Amino acid sequence: MKIDETSKQELVRILGDRFTQNAVLIDQHARGEGHLPAAPPEAVCFPVSTAEVSAIVKICNGARIPIVPWGAGTSLEGNVSALSGGICIDLSRMNDIRVVNAADLDATVGPGVTRKQLNLFLRDTGLFFPVDPGADATIGGMAATRASGTNAVRYGTMKANVLALEVVLPSGEVIRTGSRARKSAAGYDLTSLFVGSEGTLGLITEVTVKLYGVPESIVSGVSHFQDVESAVALVTEMVQLGIPVARVELLDEQTIVAVNRYSKLDLPVAPTLFFEFHGSAASVTDQVKQVSELIEAHSGSKFMHSIDHEERNRLWHARHEAHYALLAMRPNARVYGTDACVPISRLAECIRLTREDLERVPFFVSVIGHVGDGNFHLGMVIDPDDVNEWELAEEIHDRLIERTLTLGGTCSGEHGIGYGKAKYMHWEHKNALGIMAIVKNALDPNNVMNPGKILPASPEWPSRNLV
Ligand SMILES: Cc1cc2nc3c(=O)[nH]c(=O)nc-3n(C[C@H](O)[C@H](O)[C@H](O)COP(=O)(O)OP(=O)(O)OC[C@H]3O[C@@H](n4cnc5c(N)ncnc54)[C@H](O)[C@@H]3O)c2cc1C
Repeated sequence: MKIDETSKQELVRILGDRFTQNAVLIDQHARGEGHLPAAPPEAVCFPVSTAEVSAIVKICNGARIPIVPWGAGTSLEGNVSALSGGICIDLSRMNDIRVVNAADLDATVGPGVTRKQLNLFLRDTGLFFPVDPGADATIGGMAATRASGTNAVRYGTMKANVLALEVVLPSGEVIRTGSRARKSAAGYDLTSLFVGSEGTLGLITEVTVKLYGVPESIVSGVSHFQDVESAVALVTEMVQLGIPVARVELLDEQTIVAVNRYSKLDLPVAPTLFFEFHGSAASVTDQVKQVSELIEAHSGSKFMHSIDHEERNRLWHARHEAHYALLAMRPNARVYGTDACVPISRLAECIRLTREDLERVPFFVSVIGHVGDGNFHLGMVIDPDDVNEWELAEEIHDRLIERTLTLGGTCSGEHGIGYGKAKYMHWEHKNALGIMAIVKNALDPNNVMNPGKILPASPEWPSRNLV
């Protein structure tokens, strides 16, 4: 869809040089960080207020120009690719921290505030915001993808941590959903509808999130296992026993190879669990004791743990950089990532069957997971120009999702659908997908909001614009 001259002039009148068709900026906004091909927008807008967002949306909706919201562009499923061209609305300049209510443990921020920026701001308050996707994503983008990360096993995902939103609807109307109250039974839960909607229903222009007190004591630790099955069995038992671990991450031996190389560590090359415990000194000591016993029962290596801040940061930084460690394993590679999530009691089986399926794969593959949530990722390090590798990765992914759904799980624990996983929406939701389409159509009858995402391709949607 071409941006017509009248709309362009209107946008320039409102935004000045914050409306741009600069080739470099367009290129930078053509794809996120995943494996999927780029699809560039025709222009990028940088609004600084809700009123500007609303004005842009009214113009685009009136002229049927597709809109792709953009936070930090770290999403992995083609969520920000402009499949139908149109305008990318980059919200990163709406990055003001508006209110911190320390007494109520909440904060209200612009959508472009990043998670690290918020935590830096909170540094002297004794509070923190726990949701931590590996990348320094924006709070708006994280709300839009219902993101989570290593802390979700203890603190929940964005679903649990967003209290209220301000949203610009496709009509340009501005609404508020939710409130600062910790619970509400007042009508349909529109906050939950927009959390995870990936920019297909509206633009989030303000987010109110929950905050938490920085724990009195934090201990991190590592243990290595003979096989992935033992590590996963331990985690399952730990969750079933209700040990309130704050983080528990599985890195298989392949991931350790990559992480050691990239982050200059010398961890033994074996399936490994990274743990972190939060609480009072007594509670953390108790958690460490219980987990040490479980490690022994599952023949893990001696539990090396520490309260040292620097050592802890080094470990978790290496974990968060795992995606880039995989990319560094092969020149010009892309990491074809998956995001299956199953009930915890089926996790060991799902990972075992998946690893069997990977036995003869010719490219480097890692298994890494937020295993306390039943969520794990394959990182298939493929040559994006090799059709055979693409097809094989797709086949593995298809079989993984079939297996996951059979085990009662979901095709996406946290990365969202974008267009990369749209085909699995039929498999997972069956006739409930029709209700999603009705909701989409009711709010966005002209299909201008991030077209081609979440809902699988339909003859009614415009064609794709991949390069
Ligand atoms: C190294 C690495 C590690 C990662 N680890 C994790 C992880 O552990 N857990 C996890 O959940 N994710 C993870 N991700 C994925 C990514 O960081 C998340 O999906 C994140 O929430 C995206 O935020 P963003 O600001 O980059 O959004 P973007 O990528 O810019 O956008 C994501 C989607 O949200 C929409 N959107 C963005 N802002 C808004 C807005 N204000 N209003 C409406 N729609 C909007 C976009 O249109 C798009 O559909 C990782 C990514 C990388 C590169």
